[in-house]
Amino acid sequence: MSDKLRNYINGEWVASSAEIYLDVENPATGEVLAQVPMPDGKDMDQAAEAAQAAFDGWRRTPAGTRIQELFKLKRALDENFDAIAEIITIECGKTLAEARGEMIRAIENVEVACGIPRMMQGDVSEDIARGIDEMMIRQPVGVCGCIAPFNFPGMISFWFLPYAIACGNPFIVKPSEKVPLTMQKIFQLVDEHLDLPAGVLQMVHGGKESVDAMLDHPVIRAISFVGSTPVARYVYSRGTANGKRVQAQGGAKNPIIVLPDADMDMTVKIAADSAFGCAGQRCLAASVAVTVGDAGKTFTDAIAEAAASRVTGYGLDAGVQMGTVVDKNSAARIEGLIQKGADEGANVLVDGRNAQISGYENGSFVKPTVLSGVNPSGEIARTEIFGPVLSLIQVNTIEDAIAFVNGGQYGNMACLFTQSGYAARKFRYEAQAGNIGINIGVAAPMAYFPFSGWKDSFFGTLHGQSGHAVEFFTQTKVVVERWPKEWSRQF
Ligand code: NAD
Repeated sequence: MSDKLRNYINGEWVASSAEIYLDVENPATGEVLAQVPMPDGKDMDQAAEAAQAAFDGWRRTPAGTRIQELFKLKRALDENFDAIAEIITIECGKTLAEARGEMIRAIENVEVACGIPRMMQGDVSEDIARGIDEMMIRQPVGVCGCIAPFNFPGMISFWFLPYAIACGNPFIVKPSEKVPLTMQKIFQLVDEHLDLPAGVLQMVHGGKESVDAMLDHPVIRAISFVGSTPVARYVYSRGTANGKRVQAQGGAKNPIIVLPDADMDMTVKIAADSAFGCAGQRCLAASVAVTVGDAGKTFTDAIAEAAASRVTGYGLDAGVQMGTVVDKNSAARIEGLIQKGADEGANVLVDGRNAQISGYENGSFVKPTVLSGVNPSGEIARTEIFGPVLSLIQVNTIEDAIAFVNGGQYGNMACLFTQSGYAARKFRYEAQAGNIGINIGVAAPMAYFPFSGWKDSFFGTLHGQSGHAVEFFTQTKVVVERWPKEWSRQF
């Protein structure tokens, strides 16, 4: 019998009020790992009230004291690094190396947030008029929360969590119901190793009902969402209609452009890692490769070979280069979209459908797939697939390629492969995306840069991580002061 997961509310592990529980499965083996509660809004309401009760004491705790808890968190994450990475692989299906990579970025965000005593400092101007001073101070906004997707169970909450609490806000995490075990482990570490006041850091499981309760609860002041575009749009509009700050990161359809002068060996290796790494389930995965002029033939042959030779299997097994997709529904949806591409006239150059992995017959595997001759206006060229599928499009000029990039619905990432500084500069300047890679395939910002997309990849203003997070999790107050000499005792 597998475990029924509990929420972490007010400093304690609390049984959910849910009547419905979903199985959490290992996507490679089909083994049931645990059961996750799917409550109505009551659990979230309980956490919101505990957070509100904790707020005043936490905001009055000096920032230098607050970040001591981040040092403890970093130490706990470091000491349990391999155990957490293994849970990520077991519940999410990616390789162990990929799981470790995401925890490195999670920890990096904790490290950057340790600078918050300096990062949330305000500004002062003396003598804006004679004897009058003006200052801008930053104060925490109040109870905050985040809603996470399935593809980075360890990392994504950390784009927000360490900044929110270091700025003096209580914070509630709502993990993806598909992969709740990683956060469960991290909150065990929070419970055992940190000395946070009860209610400052909480976790509530669930799906839409927990999200809706977060969007509607009046004490929750700011929400960070990461997931698909339709849900991001919904979270943004309902949350802002309720007067909350919302930053909502959505889906993607990331193009990479290959010019004829690109270093082809390097480009193909990087493009394959971008398209097939994490089984294509990265918001910064390459999904379309646009080849310009002579680049087409060489790139097509080489990427097909790279796709066909990539070793797919269980992420815990040695030598595996690509794991599963998240579940069977996802595998069926991806295979349906590959068929859609074929129906639209694309050539399925490498076909990853109906993958059989010996010893894992029950696994949710789709192998690397390459579609060539894709119609730039077809559905397969425009729809987010979120699987290991790369569509190839051939154009004649860099202008045609940039027009394709800028004609898309999304704007999360766009990359260019070239040895021309002029072309690189033109692309950086003109491409409409929040993250640009030049001879880079996954242009993921370090924790000390802001992270988010443009267009339908993002709803809001301030992005995740670093200085943007500090601005999102604080509100400014401007004070103008006059202290006439005649009012004061003379010394
Ligand atoms: P999802 O939108 O299905 O779910 C995300 C979260 O929203 C989950 O916690 C889920 O419980 C909740 N949710 C789902 N449906 C809801 C609804 N109708 N109402 C309220 N809440 C709901 O996304 P996913 O499948 O978990 O993740 C994959 C998506 O996330 C992809 O589209 C990917 O591009 C995107 N993503 C974007 C970024 C980014 O930085 N822009 C990063 C990672 C993933």
